[in-house]
Amino acid sequence: MQRNWIHELEEYLAEKYANLPVHESVADDKPALRIDPALDSDEAKYFILGLEAQLFSIDEGGYAQSSLLLTASGSKGQQKGFQLFWHFAYKGRRTRALFREGISQLSAASALILKYGWDISQVQIEARREDFGALARGVDLVIKSHAGNIMICGEVKKDSREFEKLIEDFHYCCQQGQHSKSDCKCKSNHPKYELCAFAKPLYFWAVAPGREICYKLSYRDEQILLEEVVSLPHRSEI
Ligand SMILES: [Zn+2]
Ligand SMILES: [Zn+2]
Repeated sequence: MQRNWIHELEEYLAEKYANLPVHESVADDKPALRIDPALDSDEAKYFILGLEAQLFSIDEGGYAQSSLLLTASGSKGQQKGFQLFWHFAYKGRRTRALFREGISQLSAASALILKYGWDISQVQIEARREDFGALARGVDLVIKSHAGNIMICGEVKKDSREFEKLIEDFHYCCQQGQHSKSDCKCKSNHPKYELCAFAKPLYFWAVAPGREICYKLSYRDEQILLEEVVSLPHRSEI
């Protein structure tokens, strides 16, 4: 029987959310869990399969625990870098909400391993300072060869609107050739271009719930040329 991935993930998230510890910062409010935009079936599938394959877990505090994530130096126990439920003030009330893009990020990382054939040691969530210096955090996903070369940079967006803006901005920046963020009209997405211009990955992969697009990149005269390919190739084909 086909599994209902969306239902399974909704149940999983609802349970995690209900069991979050009482936190000083959420003394005011604990609204019902909202998942917006709705989960996509493939997105939910790879999130659940990633959990089952123990690529990551979500602890009682709502933090993702995984070797895919940067471990803060010196922290041996709980990783606190990636919180699936955010606590914040809204209209004077302290509340909490799902970090929706986080679901897509973990699901995309899981798909890279379970669907596209990369080893967990080759996949990183968030570009890291040790590799990219000031460009760290420029993209959400970095895939390296065993020799340490950057093969793929991936960016996750939380919905279709942001996804489309990313694609438009990425095209714009890549056509411009070398330019700085201060001279660019695409402030929020410019760092994706800048990181690719620096690291020269073979592919750029953009993902949002129910959406994905993949470009093969080539580099000429300070421009990045984009060739859209049908899908991200399996590791064995790169
Ligand atoms: Zn993102
Ligand atoms: Zn730009």
